[in-house]
Amino acid sequence: MSAPTASSFTATVLGSARIGPNRELKKATEAYWAGRLDRSGLESVAAQLRADTWSRQHTAGLDSIPVGTFSFYDHVLDTAVMLGALPARVADIADDLDRYFAAARGTDDIAPLEMTKWFDTNYHYLVPEIGPDTIFELDATKILGEIVEARELSVPARPVVLGPLTFLLLSKPVDGQGPLLGRVDELVPLYLDLLAQLADTGVDWVQLDEPALVRDLDSPALDAIGRVYNALVQAPKRPSILVASYFGSLGPALERLARTGVEGLAVDLVAGSTTGIAGLPELADKLIVAGVVDGRNVWRTDLEQALSTLATLLGSAAAVAVSSSCSLLHVPYTIDAEPDLDASLRTWLAFGSEKVSEIVTLATALRTGCDAVTDELAAARTAAQMRASDPRLRNDRVRGVLASICTDRTRTPADRRREIQRRHLDLPLLPTTTIGSYPQTARIRVARAALRTGEIDHGEYVRRMRDEIADVVALQEKLGLDVLVHGEPERNDMVQYFAEQLDGFFATTNGWVQSYGTRCVRPPILYGDVARRAPMTVEWIVHAQSLTDKPVKGMLTGPVTILAWSFVRDDQPLAETADQIALAIRDETVDLQAAGVRIIQVDEPALRELLPLRASEQPDYLKWAVGAFRLATSGVADSTQIHTHLCYSEFGEVIEAIAELDADVTSIEAARSRMEVLDDLDAAGFDLGVGPGVYDIHSPRVPSEDEITALLRKALQAVPAERLWVNPDCGLKTRGTTEVTASLANLVAAAATVRAEL
Ligand code: GLN
Ligand code: ZN
Repeated sequence: MSAPTASSFTATVLGSARIGPNRELKKATEAYWAGRLDRSGLESVAAQLRADTWSRQHTAGLDSIPVGTFSFYDHVLDTAVMLGALPARVADIADDLDRYFAAARGTDDIAPLEMTKWFDTNYHYLVPEIGPDTIFELDATKILGEIVEARELSVPARPVVLGPLTFLLLSKPVDGQGPLLGRVDELVPLYLDLLAQLADTGVDWVQLDEPALVRDLDSPALDAIGRVYNALVQAPKRPSILVASYFGSLGPALERLARTGVEGLAVDLVAGSTTGIAGLPELADKLIVAGVVDGRNVWRTDLEQALSTLATLLGSAAAVAVSSSCSLLHVPYTIDAEPDLDASLRTWLAFGSEKVSEIVTLATALRTGCDAVTDELAAARTAAQMRASDPRLRNDRVRGVLASICTDRTRTPADRRREIQRRHLDLPLLPTTTIGSYPQTARIRVARAALRTGEIDHGEYVRRMRDEIADVVALQEKLGLDVLVHGEPERNDMVQYFAEQLDGFFATTNGWVQSYGTRCVRPPILYGDVARRAPMTVEWIVHAQSLTDKPVKGMLTGPVTILAWSFVRDDQPLAETADQIALAIRDETVDLQAAGVRIIQVDEPALRELLPLRASEQPDYLKWAVGAFRLATSGVADSTQIHTHLCYSEFGEVIEAIAELDADVTSIEAARSRMEVLDDLDAAGFDLGVGPGVYDIHSPRVPSEDEITALLRKALQAVPAERLWVNPDCGLKTRGTTEVTASLANLVAAAATVRAEL
């Protein structure tokens, strides 16, 4: 059959944010969960948000609008629903929305789907479970319903769904299911059916998202590309197909896709480049949707450079449309919602709606020439020049210090340090401790809100936080823990707290981005050289230490995590920025030590998150990431014990890097995997102190003393007692004081029991 003839479009984005400019969806969803809003109330908030998003984009000048990227929780879960692949354990829940939320969040007796990171972003998706009993079945209700809504608004809708290859590559085989890609041929008839139903609505394009194709693929996966898409283009009735890739270059998948009869390809020209695309003969009859506007970062686009990128593609394709590099899910809605933003900084940035304007400008220039947009080009050029010459971008002191100490990243060998610290700290075997935060009580939240509204002054706020710390220290003394913490009551967020105190960062007031479900984060914007103005944590820790004879652990966030959870400057290599943050943290460790703090924990829960998607780029990343951590932690004396905390137990490619961090003690999640991670660490040659979590803090359940005792005995089979620490899986800030007290009492008792057996 011949390809459908569709008029191609010129300006679009690959997807839109959905949480709402004022987090309306978050608020409505949480009200629904709490029983304060009924289903129709929630649905009307959602419909209004969709309508607003589409109308705004249409009015701004996009001529193809993504429809279907809205989600009540997560688009991968939506795809599982569309393909009939929800786990059997939720099947009995009659209401489809409640069934959906049960799969996402669990219920009292149903475990939720696992959640994991969406590629190398800070968004998390739910991992579909597919077993031999999963029977795929199409339910296109959601996407069809959204198309109807869009047509009522006369919006040029382009339905977006996750493609079959990425769906399977992101899912998890269960119950003895073999490799999932083996089941892709079962999905083809469902997608054919979907294409027919979409054709019936009259849409002329459909976007199938296949971001998994930018990762390293083995040859069965590469072969599946041709097989699947050659089958889909044979659909007797269908819209034109746009296959969207993002977060990197397609690499060998490019030619496979290009050789199929799909009508369009979306490519990420921010994370990837035009290499291999420009001049590829198979693209001559296709639409290239060129992602030249960064969908993941907040900087204003260099329009002239984007235009020259677009120009290299013009002769290579039947048509070129301008787009964001990925969905706008990853950036805040608009700079207009930032009243406190410094006037010059404002001109350097583009959030979601400003990116849409940039796309429209670029598309206009492509269509009618640069003359039509001279003002826009000039404004972007001026802003870029102002940004490049802004004095706040450079701090010569920081650069000078870094140049002189950047090679100093080693400490005395770990076994010598262990001996020195053993004498200095005089801790029992199997020391007990916690990861840092204690429950964020109502009192803490009230005080923070009162400070914000001006009801109390800073002095009163500090007094209240010091009281919180005193309570937490007293609780730990009573429980009999060996190494105490101050509880982190003064921290709104483990990254923002530091960003607010460092030069080079700007904290937004409204720059919310969805992290998962209804959880949103407000990443700070790292725009210039990072420098520490003054000690950031010392007074709090010293206060805690003054209340006890036990050692209090100082608590810092590591350079890689601060980097990963911020919008980062794009005008210098990440490695350089990481070292600047590391220097600030290093100065803090030195000050803590001088103030008498003997143990310092530098959290790096995001170490694995920034790992590049392609194996070939991973060694370089690990080298600078580990280097930054070591720069941050090698400024202290041998007697000062450095801890780190990593929030997971599946280390994958980063496992060897854990030892290279050279932290004296590393605490990790381990309870759910029942300590198996210790064998992995052992196999990777790890021989430093380790605190495998002995209970899962993600649930309110209080672990019994016996079960912790059993886990500790198991841990001792993999780790000698001299290196083993006893702690929960992670921080306790999301838990309640009652359950934390009971859980930690059992933890301390279990440690005593096992210690007595040594
Ligand atoms: N110290 C932090 C806490 O306990 C660590 C949090 C984390 O690892 N995400 O809350
Ligand atoms: Zn953690």
